Amino acid sequence: MTLVFPGAEPVTLAVAGTAARFPLHRIYCVGRNYHDHVVEMGGVAGREPPFFFSKPNDAAVQDGRFPYPGRTRDVHHEVELVVALGPSLSIFGYAVGIDFTRRDLQAEAKKLGRAWDTAKAFDFSAPMSALAPRSDVLKQGAITLDVNGMRRQAGDVAHMIWGVDEIIPSLGEYFILKPGDVIFTGTPAGVGPVQKGDFLHGEIEGVGTLDVTVA
Ligand code: MN
Repeated sequence: MTLVFPGAEPVTLAVAGTAARFPLHRIYCVGRNYHDHVVEMGGVAGREPPFFFSKPNDAAVQDGRFPYPGRTRDVHHEVELVVALGPSLSIFGYAVGIDFTRRDLQAEAKKLGRAWDTAKAFDFSAPMSALAPRSDVLKQGAITLDVNGMRRQAGDVAHMIWGVDEIIPSLGEYFILKPGDVIFTGTPAGVGPVQKGDFLHGEIEGVGTLDVTVA
């Protein structure tokens, strides 16, 4: 095959314990999946069906650097468990991720009934740790995020409204899921703004850690 000009390089993720890379296909995200976060965003706690949005796969970054984006004054951190799919929709592993969000643009989009892309799907908006290979359904584990050494978010994967084993088939009703897809599974309470120079440390018990500096 001859290309009319060179295409983008395939996006891959590091995997803990091996030099082999995970071929990243798509990045999906679940909205409002912890009661305490639903409440802090002004919603009513309940068990509504999960809803989804997505980010481009080249929004994934693993170099520990998050460049503060333009067109916003209110970028928020959302620490999340990320589940990665392998062949035949098996669970390949998990990562610690941050769903960076331009909260001001998201609030405007909600108000005006517009799409969330500029609020959620921007460049560098999906930092992830190396994937930790494990094929079980992760049902519990402390999830935390510190900013400059101060605890901002603390929860437990056990408190997700929709579990990993429910999210995958639900998402699969909307999209053809493929090996290489990853899903951000929602954030616990405590989301808040970041500033240039901040150092973020995320951690999920049984998965790993993620360090990101806002550049
Ligand atoms: Mn999120």
